[in-house]
Amino acid sequence: MEREKVLIFDTSLRDGEQAPGCSMKVEEKLLLARKLQRLGVDIIEAGFPVASPGDAEAVRLVASEIEGPIIAGFARCTEKDIKVAWEALSRSPRPRIHTCLSTSDIHLTFDLKISRDEALRKAANMVAYARSLCADVEFSPQDATRSDPSYLCDVLQAVVEAGATTLNICDTVGYTTPGEYAELIRVIRQCLKGAEHVTLSVHCHNDLGLAVANSLAGVEAGARQIECTVNGIGERAGNASLEEIAMVLHVRRDRYSVETGIRHEEIYSTSQLLAKILGFEPQPNKAIVGRNAFAHEAGMHQHGVLSNPLCYEIMTPETVGVPPDHIVLGKHSGRHALAHKLKEMGHELSVDELNRVYHEFVRLADSKKHVYDQDLLSILFAERAEIPVP
Ligand code: MN
Repeated sequence: MEREKVLIFDTSLRDGEQAPGCSMKVEEKLLLARKLQRLGVDIIEAGFPVASPGDAEAVRLVASEIEGPIIAGFARCTEKDIKVAWEALSRSPRPRIHTCLSTSDIHLTFDLKISRDEALRKAANMVAYARSLCADVEFSPQDATRSDPSYLCDVLQAVVEAGATTLNICDTVGYTTPGEYAELIRVIRQCLKGAEHVTLSVHCHNDLGLAVANSLAGVEAGARQIECTVNGIGERAGNASLEEIAMVLHVRRDRYSVETGIRHEEIYSTSQLLAKILGFEPQPNKAIVGRNAFAHEAGMHQHGVLSNPLCYEIMTPETVGVPPDHIVLGKHSGRHALAHKLKEMGHELSVDELNRVYHEFVRLADSKKHVYDQDLLSILFAERAEIPVP
C-alpha cells in the first residue's frame, strides 16, 4: 500500500520548554536538536526568539548547525516578533516562520482586546510580512477549538491568500474531543478554497488526557502534520507525546494510511536524553518510554509470554531501542548478581524474597534472550503482590 507521509513537527524546544522546570540551556537545546534530527523528525521548532536573548541564540545555533529537518521559530503576529524570528532562523537551509494569533472570542475579548475584524486583518498582514521574508510560513489560530468555526474559516482563508503554507489548528487548552476535532478539520477542508495546496496541522494539549487521540483523529480527517513533544512535555498537562504518536502509527499501521519518518529504535534514547537534560524522568507508567512500559513481559503475564510473546506483547522493547541490561543477567547469573541489580534499582530483598524472585528469574532467563530491568521489576512486584496477579 502506498502510504502518505505525515510530518512530525517536534516542539519540545518551544512549547515543551515553556513548561515549569523544563527550561534548557543553549547547548542543551543543540544537543537535543541533534538527537531529534537522528530520530527523524521533519520539523524542529527551536524556540521563541523574541522571548529572550538566550532563546534567540538557541534558535540561531540550531538553525546554523542542523541540516536536514526544517527549523521553525515561533512569533506572535507582530512585526517585531517576526523580524526577530527571521533574524534567528535565516542561517538554516530550510527555515520556517511560525506565527500565531488567537481566533476565539474569549481570547480576543479578554486577552488581546481586539475585534474579530482587527484580528483577521492583523493575521493576514503579518502572514504576508512573514512571507515576504521566508517562503515557508505556518499560521496557528490559537484556541481554534473554542473559536466560531465560520470565523475561523474566514481567518484561515485570509492567511492562505496572504501566503501561509501550513495551518496549525490549535487545541491550546486541551478542550476538544476526537470526534469534535475530526469534524473541525473536515469543516476546514471543505470551506477553505485552496485547502489542497496547504498542509493542515494538529496541535493538541493533554489537559483531558486526549492529546494523542485528538491528534490521530485530526490525521484521519486529513491533517498531515502533527505537533508533539518528546515525553509529552509542555504547558500544564503537556503536549501530544511524540513517541506515542509514532508507535501508534507504526504498531497499528493496519488502521492508518499514513507513515512517519521516525526511526523507532532512537525513541528510548531520545526520551532518556531529554530526561537527563531536564532532571526528571517520564512517569513510570508512561506509554512507550516509562520505566514500567514493558514490564508486562514477565511476572503476572509471564506464563503467557513464555508460551507465545504475542499473548501480551504488541511491540518489543527492542523496537523502541530499550537497551539490554548493562550487567548481563542470564540463566547463569547467581543470586548475588540479581540482588545487586535489584539493589541498584532501589529494592533490598530479604533472603526468602530473593530466593523466590531468583526462581522466577531463572525460569524467564531460560527462555528469553535479554532480561530487562522491567522484567525484574515485574517479577518483584508480582512476588510482593504490589500488582494484582490475574
Ligand atoms: Mn501549545
